[in-house]
Amino acid sequence: MVDWINSISVDWVLSRRRFYGTEIPLWYCKKCGRTIVPEPGKYYIPWKEKPPIAKCPNCESDEFIGESRIFDTWFDSSNSELYILGYLWNKEFFNKNFPCSLRPQGKEIVRSWLYFTILKSYLLFGKSPFKDIVINYHVTDEKGEKMSKSLGNIIDPQVIIKNFGAETFRMWAFLEGNILSGDVRYSDKRMEASKRFLTKLWNLGRFISSFPVVQKGEMMPAEKWILGELNKLKTM
Ligand SMILES: [Zn+2]
Repeated sequence: MVDWINSISVDWVLSRRRFYGTEIPLWYCKKCGRTIVPEPGKYYIPWKEKPPIAKCPNCESDEFIGESRIFDTWFDSSNSELYILGYLWNKEFFNKNFPCSLRPQGKEIVRSWLYFTILKSYLLFGKSPFKDIVINYHVTDEKGEKMSKSLGNIIDPQVIIKNFGAETFRMWAFLEGNILSGDVRYSDKRMEASKRFLTKLWNLGRFISSFPVVQKGEMMPAEKWILGELNKLKTM
């Protein structure tokens, strides 16, 4: 993210020319061009509504042009931590809990959601909006390609569950899914291997549980050695 910030050479575009979105609450005086900014606390639709003042404070004209553009999506979503903490309507809760403990998010929106949220928080409060951020990578297709509709390489998790079972899916994610170290490649073959591993584990469990539980007894040297190795593994 720091690399990205240092490489920025253009301004952040915060408006969009789309119909749906959060209106930018501004009017412009038709005569002198003065920008009219309303008091906060109300939602305005400037292209449809009149401004909250009758006359331009600069030239006394009573004709205005309402802003027709909307805010960029990231301008809205960069409010997320303010929203969940009740900023402006639950001050006690906000003051007690700001900054947020954790922002979980995907790697592809570091330069949008994460950046804009942090930027806005610094502009408003002079500090970071989160204590920690978890950025996860993606599950890709077998070749490492991002799944997309146009490529037609989307793998539906429901189909995997139907074909291999939910436990196999979990086992695969557990064995291969270190999603913090990079993208994880999905493959049917690897899923099949997870299924076999799970079957072995299941059979092992059934085999062990077929013996009576020993209440009291001496451990053999080999047993001590095995438990020692297990403890070493646990502390790794
Ligand atoms: Zn004016």
